[in-house]
This record gives sequence, C-alpha cells and structure tokens, in this order.
Amino acid sequence: MQIIETDILILGAGGAGLFAALHAKKANPDLDVTIAVKGLLGKCGCTRMVQGGYNVALSPNDSVERHFMDTIEGGKWLNRQDLAWTLVTVAQKRIRELETELGCFFDRNPDGTVHQKAFAGQTFDRTVHKGDLTGIEIINRLAEQVWRRDVKRIEDHRALDLIPSADGSELAGVLMLDMRTGEPLMVRARATLLATGGGPTMYKYHTPSGDKSCDGLAMALRAGLTLRDIEMVQFHPTGLLAGEGTRMTGTVLEEGLRGAGGYLVDSQGKRFMFDYDERGERATRDIVSRSIFDRIRKGFASPHGGVYIEMGHLGPDKVRRQFKGMVDRCKDCGFDLAAGRVEVIPTAHYMMGGLEFDEDCTTALPRLYAAGEDTGGVHGANRLGGNGVANSTVFGGIAGDVMGQRVTPNGALPEPDRAAIEAAHDRAFAPLGKKPGDLSAMRERLYDVMWNDVGILRTGESLARGRGVLDSLAKEIAASGIADTSRRYNLTWMDRLNLENLTLISRAICEAADHRHDSRGAHFREDFPEAGDLATSRYTQVKLEGDKIVVGTEAVKFTHVKPGDTLLNQTAAE
Ligand SMILES: Cc1cc2nc3c(=O)[nH]c(=O)nc-3n(C[C@H](O)[C@H](O)[C@H](O)COP(=O)(O)OP(=O)(O)OC[C@H]3O[C@@H](n4cnc5c(N)ncnc54)[C@H](O)[C@@H]3O)c2cc1C
Repeated sequence: MQIIETDILILGAGGAGLFAALHAKKANPDLDVTIAVKGLLGKCGCTRMVQGGYNVALSPNDSVERHFMDTIEGGKWLNRQDLAWTLVTVAQKRIRELETELGCFFDRNPDGTVHQKAFAGQTFDRTVHKGDLTGIEIINRLAEQVWRRDVKRIEDHRALDLIPSADGSELAGVLMLDMRTGEPLMVRARATLLATGGGPTMYKYHTPSGDKSCDGLAMALRAGLTLRDIEMVQFHPTGLLAGEGTRMTGTVLEEGLRGAGGYLVDSQGKRFMFDYDERGERATRDIVSRSIFDRIRKGFASPHGGVYIEMGHLGPDKVRRQFKGMVDRCKDCGFDLAAGRVEVIPTAHYMMGGLEFDEDCTTALPRLYAAGEDTGGVHGANRLGGNGVANSTVFGGIAGDVMGQRVTPNGALPEPDRAAIEAAHDRAFAPLGKKPGDLSAMRERLYDVMWNDVGILRTGESLARGRGVLDSLAKEIAASGIADTSRRYNLTWMDRLNLENLTLISRAICEAADHRHDSRGAHFREDFPEAGDLATSRYTQVKLEGDKIVVGTEAVKFTHVKPGDTLLNQTAAE
C-alpha cells in the first residue's frame, strides 16, 4: 500500500477545511499541509451551497451578547456556551478577514456599510450575504488563496478510517481510498483535522451535497470517540418539491424568502403559520417545519404532498432582483417563484450534533482536531440560519492556528497500528468480494424509515420501529457486495460505503432520540412534548461499543448565562 507523510492532514475542503489550511500555513509556512477531499477542491461540500449568508454582529445597534443570546435561545439551552461565545466573537474577526484578506465581495448598503438581512429566529438583522449565492463567493475566494499557496491536494480521495498509533494513545493518520484508481493510501500525519461536514443525507428529502454521507462522524464512532446531541437534525422548512425522480426535490429555497415577507399557504390558500407561532413565517426552522408537517397531516397538502410558498405580494420584480438564484432555480423546474406559488416540503439540512471538541478544536484523541459541521455543541438543539458557515469558518481558522502553532515540522510521527489498518482496509474492500445486494432498495428503506420514524415528529413507538429496521439494514448492507467489481472510479462501491456510514449514524440518531424524553429544538417527541426544566438540561453522548450504540447524558454547564437570565440586561446595566 502506498504511504505518504505530512505534517498536517485536513479531511474536507469546505469552509472549515480551507480556512484551516490557510491559517496553518500562516501560523507556520514551513509546515507541509495536505488537504484530502472526496470531491474536487472548490467544487464540493455544502459551504459552496450556502445561499442565505453569514451571521455576525456588525451594526452598532447589534452586539455579540445579542447574537449569543439568540444562539442560546435558538439552541434551547443545550449549547456548549463557551463554544457559542467563541462563535459569535470570532465571527466578527472572520468576516473582516473574508472581506479584506481573502477578497469576498458582500452586498453593501448605499452608505457603504455591509448589508445585513433578516433571518428567522433572530432578534436583529445580522446576516451578511452576497445576493443569495453567498457560499460560492466564499468558497471561490478561499480556493483561490489555497491554490496560490504551497498546500498539497489529494482530490477524489475518501477517508475510510482514523488509524490510531500502535499503542492506541493517539492518532497516527488516516486510511484513504483513491477513488480514481480504487487503491488504498495510508496518510501518516502529525496532526489531522476532521472537517468532512456531517450531512444528513439519510432522509428522503435532504439538502446537502451528494459527497456528504456522515463519513467523519462514522469514522469518529468507529475510533471509539463520543458524539454529542446527535439526535438533533435540523429540517429546513422549505425544500423544493419538484416531484418524484428529480434530484431538485429537497434542495433548499432559502430562509431569506420568509425573512423578506414570503408567506406559506396550504392547499386551501390559507396562510397558516400564525396559527402555530406569533412570529408567523419568521419562527425558527423547527417550528415552521413541524407546523408544515402538521398542516400536511391534517389533509391540507399540495398535489405533491407539501405546502406552497408565495412571494408575489412583495412585487415580482423586487423578488426577481433580490432572490435571483432562487427564482432561477424554480424556473429551471418550471415554477414561477416571483409571481406564482411554489410547492415546498421540510428537508433534512444540518446536523447540530457531532464529535465532541474543545474551543481550540482538540478532541479526546490526541493529534485529532475537528471543526465545522462534524462537531457538536456549538448550536445545541437548533442552529440559526447563518450560524452554519460562521461555525465552519470560525472553528476551521482556529484549528489551523492551533495545529500550525503546535506541530513541529519533521517532529515525531506516530507509528500506525497495523491491525487497525488491516481492519479498515478489509471493511472498505469487503463489498468487492461479496454477493451483490440491491443497494437502491436498501437506500430507499433507509430514506423511508428515517423520514417516517426518526424524522420531524418522533414517538417511542416510531423510534422502536426505526431501531428494528435500521439494525436489520445495517446487517444487510454489511453482507452486501456489488455487481461491478472493477476498482476504478466505481461509484456503486462508493455508494455502498456511503450507505454503511449513513446507516451507522442513523442508528446513533435513533438511539439518542429514544433516550431524550423531552422536546427541544429540532428534536420533537409527540409523547414528551414539553421542553422540561431548562436549568437541569442534559446533553446526549453516543459511543459505539462493539456493534452496540450506547447512549449516556451529561449536565449542560451554563458557563456564561443561566436559563432565565440574559446577557442583554447585564449589558444595559453596565
Ligand atoms: C443548500 C444549503 C444551504 C445552506 N445555506 C446556509 C446559509 O445560508 N448560512 C449558513 O450559515 N449555513 C448554510 N448552510 C450550512 C453550511 O453549508 C454548513 O454549515 C457549512 O458550510 C459546513 O461547512 P463544513 O466545512 O463543515 O462542511 P462542507 O462545506 O460540507 O465541506 C465538507 C467537505 O468534506 C469532504 N468530505 C466528505 N466526506 C469525506 C471523506 N470521507 N473524505 C474526504 N473528504 C470528505 C466534502 O467533499 C467537502 O469537501 C447551507 C447548507 C446547504 C446544504
């Protein structure tokens, strides 16, 4: 097997991975930095897909305290508060870096200040954006800067498993698969960043890019690490419902539409959101998603089973100008967003849960760092729109700084555990030697069980059903091979590996959801609809022991503010 060595290995080329590479190089230009990515650098992952924008307190009438309180209230007090504080404070620095060092052009007001728009669940309009295609601006500028520097790239390579050192005390590197040749590659590294971006693509309707299949989370579980709040899966309320058999179904119509005054109406033309929440369409994503689901269950569904979004009352020309990307996307599917109605359905969008990590992006496994959507704790039970890309760029930059400062070029390189390499290799290559299974049918079963039983509304009964299906699916997938056994760019093989990781994380979501006997943010139990006592909030922790998912809980530490208190009063008092 080919083996390469590097000082810093970065898994993933989204906002977290690219920022980490730039900061590591800045901290120590002598370091050998390698980005390994499942797709092509600059063309994959979800940061590129960011539409709405980036939350940051810039206005003199806004404050980091206000941004923090919105984040904590939105997270239903499950957030790790030190991480949330880092998010809101460092975001101010990061947005300036994006503009002045990296060259992003964000929309501006006539007076030259950065334009900030409304996003749901926030008490201040603080979302910085570039039209409604903000992620393309950010990723293009980041990629250009990475290309300019001496950063090694291994593209079309998927990370298979984290490989510990021979004595098990630290991380020695990562076993990868060159997707173009089908050959394994062992990358030994002095520090590794996990930034593969989660991605709840196990649900029937989902928004993330196709390269995301919870690989990093599955690798972390298999390496014995702990995932936090993994039951917290965010559904974006307005996924496009373009009909069966098109990948456009599930793609997101951004939140700014509702922020700007878009209505949701049911099959009877009734604007229903005010029946559920006084904020109407500007309630948080979880509330809007549940309300739509309820409306559909009550028999007021549109022809394809969703509801409608309506923008025409704002003036078609204005809508066309302000939301060009969204209007074009709908037009491509034959719908008129500017003047007509478009069918929408809640769609799985983001994972608030993920690998436990600290403010400096270290994890429980020495030499392993984590940032971005692979991590848990920043958002608690719900992520505010606009806090996702802030999260990946804030913590990606921190991870780069810290790795750059701590890693010594040509320093000690841990010896990898050979048995772990063999086990990871055998798992990944097993499908080539097994009887082919019906992968499409298995994927559909996964979609259905997650959507119906482990989705927006959950009960003990539905989760028990979900567990049964998921456990048997996991066994079937593990036993399944693929018909075409050529190794070169074999997408069926990749799909099989994706399904294995997605099913493992689906089992983790199901078990954690069953364990949580309350309803918080994105997690709603119809049999436990109350949030419970916020002051005694606990977060879930999931581990893999043998083949069993084990769930525990820990008390949330209110390091900055306790439920019932607010930092805003303190600011006012000062
Ligand atoms: C349609 C859409 C719209 C969004 N809009 C907004 C918004 O307006 N505002 C906001 O704040 N957030 C938004 N988000 C969320 C935001 O995109 C994410 O929070 C954030 O970009 C995640 O960054 P990341 O670097 O962690 O992951 P990503 O940007 O997804 O990058 C992950 C990287 O890991 C790579 N990878 C995956 N698996 C492997 C593997 N096994 N081996 C190697 N590499 C791997 C991928 O190819 C990719 O390069 C949106 C998301 C979507 C899907």
